[in-house]
Amino acid sequence: SDKNPQYSRILLKLSGEALAGGLGMGIDTSVLDKMSLAIAHLCGLGVQVGIVVGGGNLYRGSQLQKEGLVGRVTGDQMGMLATVMNGLAMRDALERRNINTRLMSALPIGEVTESYSSRNAIRYLKNGDVCIFVAGTGNPFFTTDTAACLRGIEIEAGVILKATKVDGVYDKDPSEHADAKKYDALTFDEVLEQKLGVMDLTAIALCREHNVPLQVFDMNKPNSLLNVIMGENEGTRVFH
Ligand code: UDP
Repeated sequence: SDKNPQYSRILLKLSGEALAGGLGMGIDTSVLDKMSLAIAHLCGLGVQVGIVVGGGNLYRGSQLQKEGLVGRVTGDQMGMLATVMNGLAMRDALERRNINTRLMSALPIGEVTESYSSRNAIRYLKNGDVCIFVAGTGNPFFTTDTAACLRGIEIEAGVILKATKVDGVYDKDPSEHADAKKYDALTFDEVLEQKLGVMDLTAIALCREHNVPLQVFDMNKPNSLLNVIMGENEGTRVFH
């Protein structure tokens, strides 16, 4: 096509749920393969790609807390480590496609990953390397959605892209209501006022405060990531 990418640098949030694909938990290698192909495609267009991966497919901090034996902070630390495992898998999938990839962790993990630094990340991105940011924000009680917005702002991404299982934001759950209506665009205030479950409040507040647009789309839809990059109407856009 004669179109050009609308962004020079993006932050892509991949949830654990997306990585689990049809398996429902763990890592679906066919999903990993498809995602790495879509990301490699963006790199080929010269788009700089930062990625934040979730961990919900392996573990969520609140899981063990219910039983009372493992505390919330410990559980969240386990959840952050789960994101490291997903990041390792994604790094290898990208490197198999000859995409130089940096794995950067908010929690230092010695030989397994390098430690996150925004200065180094920006340097790598400018060099064309993909950066995968893991261990969330490094703090308990936060989510990887918040980490995605934080890293997106830090690396000065033009947009934060949230890949989900649904093709955007609806006024009610589309899996339960046949008449659910999809929004093409929303303002941050509408998301907050109508309590639309786009991302948690901390994440939305960060994007609003720093004026970084957000786009929610279905990564399983063929070419959806590419369409988003090309500025086509895909999913739901959230901005001021
Ligand atoms: N987590 C955390 N701090 C962060 C990010 C994540 O403690 O900054 C923990 C939290 O326990 C969370 C788990 O890591 O449940 C996995 O992250 P998340 O649930 O956001 O993953 P996703 O839903 O995207 O798969």
